[in-house]
Amino acid sequence: MNKIKYFDHASTTPVKEEVLKEMIPYFNLEFGNPSSLYSIGRRNRRAVEEAREKVARAINAKPNEIYFTSCGSESDNLAIKGIAFENKHKGNHIITSKIEHPAVLNTCKMLEQEGFKVTYLDVNKKGLIDLKILEESITDKTILISIMFANNEIGTIQPIKEIGKIAKKHNIYFHTDAVQAMGNIKIDVNNMNIDSLSMSAHKFYGPKGVGALYIREGIPFKKLQDGGHQEKDKRAGTENVPGIVGLGKAIEIANNNIDRYNKKLVYLRDYYINQVEEKIPDVKLNGDRVNRLPGNANFSFKYVDGEELLLDLDAKGIAASSGSACSSGTDAPSHVLLAIGLTAETAKGALRITMGEENTKEDIDYLVSTLTEIVRKIRKN
Ligand SMILES: *Cc1c(COP(=O)(O)O)cnc(C)c1O
Repeated sequence: MNKIKYFDHASTTPVKEEVLKEMIPYFNLEFGNPSSLYSIGRRNRRAVEEAREKVARAINAKPNEIYFTSCGSESDNLAIKGIAFENKHKGNHIITSKIEHPAVLNTCKMLEQEGFKVTYLDVNKKGLIDLKILEESITDKTILISIMFANNEIGTIQPIKEIGKIAKKHNIYFHTDAVQAMGNIKIDVNNMNIDSLSMSAHKFYGPKGVGALYIREGIPFKKLQDGGHQEKDKRAGTENVPGIVGLGKAIEIANNNIDRYNKKLVYLRDYYINQVEEKIPDVKLNGDRVNRLPGNANFSFKYVDGEELLLDLDAKGIAASSGSACSSGTDAPSHVLLAIGLTAETAKGALRITMGEENTKEDIDYLVSTLTEIVRKIRKN
């Protein structure tokens, strides 16, 4: 496993040394339960609350508006189902988009079985929703809009502040799945009119198995997990203290370095995009050239199967992702790529590269030369 060139940061990221270091004591030496009243318990409580303050600070929220969960998917579930069930008396209509992560799409499908009506907005070729159509879709039954901050496959960043304004004007709650945006884009939930936001630590150099959900103070939502009174009685279960401490540290580092980090990834991304377009014929960049996540580049390679490309890259020590749903386990073309107008065949020739902090220009050179060779070889067969 040495010297793997990792270009799949949208899928997960390695835990940073400094993050791991802060987590470790809470596995053994500092093992107390945050709900216990003796000192080791109280120290765990303090560690959890300090992490909560760090999360709040990163998005300009208040600590009492942050709930810790087990992952980004759970945060999406708790926000959308929680708000929907608790506000059903006001209406049963939800608006989302066709390119959401399955954690949002399948949650909405579940709610349809519970009597909710869901509008799935189309996106244009670049992956953007239409604000005018969003506003026209609102009815007097609409209680929630859930639109992702940035797309995990094509990187497109939605006009979040404008969506927030529309939601506010119509008195509708606005949730955003910001799992990909967190650590990549500066977020201010007040300035952007965001009522609820999901994040996941393992997407910004924190550990797997821990996420956070912001829900604006005063918004009623139903808990999905019953039991003890943890997380202000909204999410039962003894807190994952090491994970929460790791999430707090990771978000602090990410936010303190966001400008430098952003600049580096934009440089690497644009360098890769230019190199691919220069060296490989018959390619198509999916998504928007500029308005996309800093480290994201998604290309369709004509006459090439994405899965085959992935396996050949893997043999050369390169980890990337293809265009099919969640990249494995299914043969279906990506719902995101279909939604931006690709044919099933072009969608299946997609390769997603997502860069991270540890990538260098030399890594990109190796990636491009290997890719050029492999694409040429596959097309010859
Ligand atoms: C990864 C991801 C999720 C799910 O997060 P988990 O922590 O893996 O559950 C949700 N939404 C988006 C946009 C993601 O990229």
